[in-house]
Amino acid sequence: MLSSPFPDSDACVDGVRFCGTPRPLLCESFGSWVQRVCQHFQLTYSSFYRLTRIDVRKDTDLVLDQAKCRKLARLFALSEDDFACMRLMFQRCAASKSFRCFLNFTDDGKPAYRFCPCCLRTDATPYYRLEWRFKHWTVCPRHRVKMEEACQSCGCAPQMNRTMLSGNRGVPSLAYCCTCWSDLRRSPESAETEGCQEIDDAAATGRAVVSAVILGYFSILGFKSNWKLLRNLPGLLRHDLLVGVPCETKPLRRDASGKALSTPGHLMAPLEFERRRGSARTALRRSRRG
Ligand SMILES: [Zn+2]
Ligand SMILES: [Zn+2]
Repeated sequence: MLSSPFPDSDACVDGVRFCGTPRPLLCESFGSWVQRVCQHFQLTYSSFYRLTRIDVRKDTDLVLDQAKCRKLARLFALSEDDFACMRLMFQRCAASKSFRCFLNFTDDGKPAYRFCPCCLRTDATPYYRLEWRFKHWTVCPRHRVKMEEACQSCGCAPQMNRTMLSGNRGVPSLAYCCTCWSDLRRSPESAETEGCQEIDDAAATGRAVVSAVILGYFSILGFKSNWKLLRNLPGLLRHDLLVGVPCETKPLRRDASGKALSTPGHLMAPLEFERRRGSARTALRRSRRG
């Protein structure tokens, strides 16, 4: 029988020992929150598993379902709503492998994240956002900079499949490289991106794809009906035929009470539609036929 990492397991369950558990921050990924919890209680992923029976060692972001949210809320004296955002964001990818084409993985299949150094710099507590896991989230719309894929000093990417903040080699916060301990909050080289169309397009596309994954469908400017996420979107993105329509609303925010997930629809428009009208329409029609 597996034992709890704490000597008095009852005290864990009633929340006494877990007072002060870090709450998930706005749009924080489950992987990022688990890292911070492991740091707070000095747990490894294995001891987190022994404690919660939730295995976060393969792909943390994809393990959450409603029952696990309930369990975590009870165990760590938090609200189920604290986990709603991260569960809903990845629910399709968690339920079916087919949807994982929208997420980032390393070549050997480990979960991969990009990060925005500017976001990390402005965070009181540095954390990883849900959107940073998505393949098409290549620029930060808030800071208008390209997302970083790895530490600029050593070239290593964040390793969310193991604890980065606890254990012998734990770094002080998620703003540090877990391999060489460099500060990841350095200024990006291309800071002047005001009015850059490429940045605008990439930011809008990122938002549109994230929105489509949450909603399960997407729409294209000039077409009346909705398009199927899995059947149509990957192929169209692969052929560079779509770009997001710039949109003022954020793809993922809680409502005023901090509970619900808002998921405004985002339109996608064929890239340079007028110029490439013929080829775009043909490809869209072919994609729709599946
Ligand atoms: Zn940013
Ligand atoms: Zn490094």
